[in-house]
Amino acid sequence: MQLMRNATEVSRRSFIAGAAMAGVAATLGLAGCAPQGERNEATAQGSNTKWSEECDVLVVGSGYTGLAAAIEAKSAGADVKVIEKANRAGGNSSLAAGDFAVCNSSVQEREGVQDSIDQYVDDMMVAGLYLNDRDKCRMIAEKSNETWEWTIEMGATWAKNDDGEYFLYPYGGHTVMRSIAQGEGGGANVTGPFVAKLEEMGVEIETKRMLTELVKDDSGRVIGAIVHDKPNGNDAESGTPVAIKANKAVVLASGGFGRDLEFRMAQDPRLDDSVDCTNQEGATAESLRAAVAAGAMAVHTDWIQLLPFMSPDEQGYGVAAFYTDGQASYAPTLNAATGKRIVNELTDRKRYADAILETGQPCVQITCKKALYDNGSGLEDALAAGIATEFSSIEEAAEHYGMPVDAVKAEIDRYNTFVANKTDEDFGKPIPEDAQSIDEAPFYGVRLWPKVHHCMGGVKTDLECRALDMNLKVIPGLYVAGEAAGGIHGACRLGSCATADCLVNGRIAGQNAAKEQAV
Ligand SMILES: Cc1cc2nc3c(=O)[nH]c(=O)nc-3n(C[C@H](O)[C@H](O)[C@H](O)COP(=O)(O)OP(=O)(O)OC[C@H]3O[C@@H](n4cnc5c(N)ncnc54)[C@H](O)[C@@H]3O)c2cc1C
Repeated sequence: MQLMRNATEVSRRSFIAGAAMAGVAATLGLAGCAPQGERNEATAQGSNTKWSEECDVLVVGSGYTGLAAAIEAKSAGADVKVIEKANRAGGNSSLAAGDFAVCNSSVQEREGVQDSIDQYVDDMMVAGLYLNDRDKCRMIAEKSNETWEWTIEMGATWAKNDDGEYFLYPYGGHTVMRSIAQGEGGGANVTGPFVAKLEEMGVEIETKRMLTELVKDDSGRVIGAIVHDKPNGNDAESGTPVAIKANKAVVLASGGFGRDLEFRMAQDPRLDDSVDCTNQEGATAESLRAAVAAGAMAVHTDWIQLLPFMSPDEQGYGVAAFYTDGQASYAPTLNAATGKRIVNELTDRKRYADAILETGQPCVQITCKKALYDNGSGLEDALAAGIATEFSSIEEAAEHYGMPVDAVKAEIDRYNTFVANKTDEDFGKPIPEDAQSIDEAPFYGVRLWPKVHHCMGGVKTDLECRALDMNLKVIPGLYVAGEAAGGIHGACRLGSCATADCLVNGRIAGQNAAKEQAV
């Protein structure tokens, strides 16, 4: 698969698409589209594209990023169009657990957690192996709290505990508790209300519309896009091509490419079809290809995150993670062949996933009821789905998974001494004050094998979320944010930092797109 296409080819393809557009426009009669002014026709002539629709800001994608961008752009007075290739709004965002890493929140203050912008940024950098864009990490940390509060103003809801208060959730790689829990319903508790908010503002999500190409004018400014209506799945050649003019800017909020087998294997050949993926079916790379073809620089595309605590006994995201990374998030993970622990189970996802992969077969997470995390959930669903299994003893669990029984018993005994002494001598995992030893039935076991989860790579952007070209110069008229942007998280995104990234940068992209001078 060819990643790079030069600008000449873009113009040529735009021309071909433009020729097709003439017919489309005639058929559609421009019904329902804003009237085209003299200036727009002149621009369209310049790029050989016959526009059939227009708007000020064209937002591509309807996850956290696109919805946040659209709300901001519309609030700033822009005429906004949101296109979405799936037949429903929400993307991965609406499937996500949805927890949000927020720095210096009122929830941290209430729970007495000391945090700082520097500490948040440092945590992201450590997980990202210092490959991250530090300034962007800082922006996310600084704006995380005002953005979380803004989501509530926009109608989003967040989980509350029995006292009716928002609460924090532990996440690997964060040195303090800062992730505000989303709870039942997950990311849809944000995307649903945001879609409703946009409807209220007069913006519909236009589903089954796939961006395949960006159109630039002679000065190199992005002035619109070729969009295929009613495509067949992710086939960028299918559907009816339509040219949409974006007078101010195009915002690419099209997410990652975890489901694009061919594209992801070109970045990381290990990620073939034997490695499952947590993403929705539409997480493919055609809009990244379009951005690169328009001259954008793609960075870090081979840093593809695997989620470690996934079950090989179900497909996709499934139900396992709500338990393995929820109620059981402190539990020890054992090498199935040796019965030994393999890692600090609260480390970042890369180190955790790499440690599991290195064993060459699914590992086993073992814990017991009294050691489960109080504020978590997921056990019942995992048991019902046959992902988790209940046992009356450690021996029974070890036998069930074909593990060396004595070694497993010895390892759990050793782990229990770490819990008692509050010191993990083997891997340095922080042991909470109220941690419980694993020594009382019922016991639970789950097999773990990583799945493709998040793309750290994408389009290089500046702090304003403007796309940058191969010379790190701004491509006028093109904004990129959320998982479609690359380089922010470096080698590994911390859990709950994607929500922060997408919402913070989605808002920035929308605000700045609306400020652009119309062409
Ligand atoms: C199961 C799951 C659980 C997660 N849990 C968490 C969590 O708890 N905390 C956290 O921080 N992160 C979490 N993440 C990661 C996070 O949710 C995602 O990184 C984030 O939702 C991405 O948002 P986005 O708006 O950039 O993209 P998305 O939400 O994926 O939206 C992109 C949209 O663009 C559409 N699109 C793509 N290409 C085109 C095109 N060419 N034309 C038109 N439309 C297009 C897609 O169909 C999609 O609807 C999770 C991810 C998954 C999959």
